[in-house]
Amino acid sequence: MRYATFSTSTDPSPRLGAVAGDRVVDLLAASKDAMAHAVPETLLALVQQGADAERRARDLVARHAGDPAVTHMLGDVRWHAPIPRPPKNVVCLGLNYAAHARESARARGRDTSLPAVPVFFTKAPTAVAGPYDDVRVDRSVTTQVDWEVELAVVIGAGGRDIPRRSALQHVFGYTVVNDLSARDLQAQHLQWFKGKSLDGFCPAGPVVVTPDEFGDPQAKRLRSRVNGVVKQDASTADMIFPVDVIIEWLSKGLTLEPGDIIATGTPEGVGMGRTPQEFLGDGDVVEVEVEGVGTLRNRIVG
Ligand code: ZN
Repeated sequence: MRYATFSTSTDPSPRLGAVAGDRVVDLLAASKDAMAHAVPETLLALVQQGADAERRARDLVARHAGDPAVTHMLGDVRWHAPIPRPPKNVVCLGLNYAAHARESARARGRDTSLPAVPVFFTKAPTAVAGPYDDVRVDRSVTTQVDWEVELAVVIGAGGRDIPRRSALQHVFGYTVVNDLSARDLQAQHLQWFKGKSLDGFCPAGPVVVTPDEFGDPQAKRLRSRVNGVVKQDASTADMIFPVDVIIEWLSKGLTLEPGDIIATGTPEGVGMGRTPQEFLGDGDVVEVEVEGVGTLRNRIVG
């Protein structure tokens, strides 16, 4: 399944949808004339309600995929982040690809030793933006906006002290995040939170793909482009800590809950690591893409 959050010009409230072919099924509309129990109005609620709710959603999609009364053409809707306002900060991995860890260290004039345990930081929930939204940048706040393509995980069943062998059973689905970063703020404030959390700095989507459809999370190509020029092109196979190991480490003594989002780190090719360094300017269009999920396309505006 490919779940989305969308709205239309006639009904601007964001709601749960599922992509079927070239159409998106409005699950709320589909459930209105169904004999079955209703499905939740939001993707977050669907994730929180667990397996039974998801079975009902799948059932509705199967029955209504071709029904013009409750579907829209993909190009006719507005796409929101799948979970527009996560209940908690988005958890992120720093330095989870060796070549990126080395380029980051070079850019900061530090040692290039690789992390022995995952490096965790977070982004504020207010940073989340839609997959095609403009990202407004206040140039009195930052002049060094950088891109980071990342595979992100949405937690389904929560838990604590989750062992690696069962970690992937806790994944509801996979999405794409652009971990936009204000490098000047990251350096000034020492801690990464501020430079990673400006409004709009976490475009996400365009869909959440369930594990049965996504397949192996460690065998996906991920790329970024700025104004059509490829900047990052790598494979999730290159992660230092793969998804199951990330979940094992993060959940040690720390409860993960349904709807928690984990961005799994970015490969080499960010602007900070280039010679000379490159940052996003007003009018630039940044695209980040993960194979099997889709592409986020955001314009930087002043
Ligand atoms: Zn990142």
